[in-house]
Amino acid sequence: MVSNNTYRGRFAPSPTGPLHFGSLIAAVGSYLDARTQGGEWLVRMEDVDTARNVPGAADAILQTLGDFGFEWDGAVLYQSSRFEAYAEALERLRRAGLAYGCACSRKEIADSATRPAVDGGLAYAGTCRAGLPDGREARAWRLRVDDEAIAFDDRVQGRVVQHLESDVGDFVLRRADGLFAYQLAVVVDDDFQGILQVVRGADLLASTPRQIWLQQCLGFATPGYAHLPVATNAVGEKLSKQTLARALASDSAAAELVRALGFLGQAVPADLGRATVAEVWGWARENWSFAAIPRRPAIIIPQA
Ligand code: GLU
Repeated sequence: MVSNNTYRGRFAPSPTGPLHFGSLIAAVGSYLDARTQGGEWLVRMEDVDTARNVPGAADAILQTLGDFGFEWDGAVLYQSSRFEAYAEALERLRRAGLAYGCACSRKEIADSATRPAVDGGLAYAGTCRAGLPDGREARAWRLRVDDEAIAFDDRVQGRVVQHLESDVGDFVLRRADGLFAYQLAVVVDDDFQGILQVVRGADLLASTPRQIWLQQCLGFATPGYAHLPVATNAVGEKLSKQTLARALASDSAAAELVRALGFLGQAVPADLGRATVAEVWGWARENWSFAAIPRRPAIIIPQA
């Protein structure tokens, strides 16, 4: 258990749509883990992928968080204001010989790949590792990886081990469209904000070894990690805007919070659903049990 005043956590939604039940679980889990240990809890708006941002979604998410009774510390950090920091980190990696320009098109990457990557894509074969082919220009920037095991003990899911070279391949830090990749942005910002505990959905479990490797390359400390089970629909798809998870309505905040607590394995009393938002938080802060969180990466919820 982390002691008081050494805990700083965060919730980092992407403004690609309104807050839905899937993201509420990460918000509730990260919030209670922080607050029940006297820790700070920050909100970071992950609007780095400007092509996917939905106008108005960031404000709507913050409004919903407020209506649901979440109180965050300090100002919200917007990744769209952080491009200089990402560029600087990439430049450091480039100068250290760790990042390199890659000219491969999508088709070339697919044609040269010999194995799948852990997260469903293809592991990059390393074509441009030794230098750009003659006459070709860099489209994207990639981080060199090796095949040493990267292991960490997730507080919910247990021990995770990956060999980045065979499981992922050299991965993208800056995309061909010029945007910085999530992996780089999240590592630079977790360090910048002094995050000590990351509590988020298990859909990001397979990304964590890449983030730990990046932290090592940049000389950053590695925070603790806890990956909560994610809510999926009956066919196993994560609840997200893509699977049309409905937006959370502020007038059913107490009931939705109770549902999220139940999803996280908490022994919620039957009548808590009729309580006020403040009463639900009061109960949750008093009774939160991290140990009760199901140690599974995904749980199907019926009405998805
Ligand atoms: N922005 C990511 C998402 O909404 C979460 C990133 C993180 O917590 O590291 O899925």
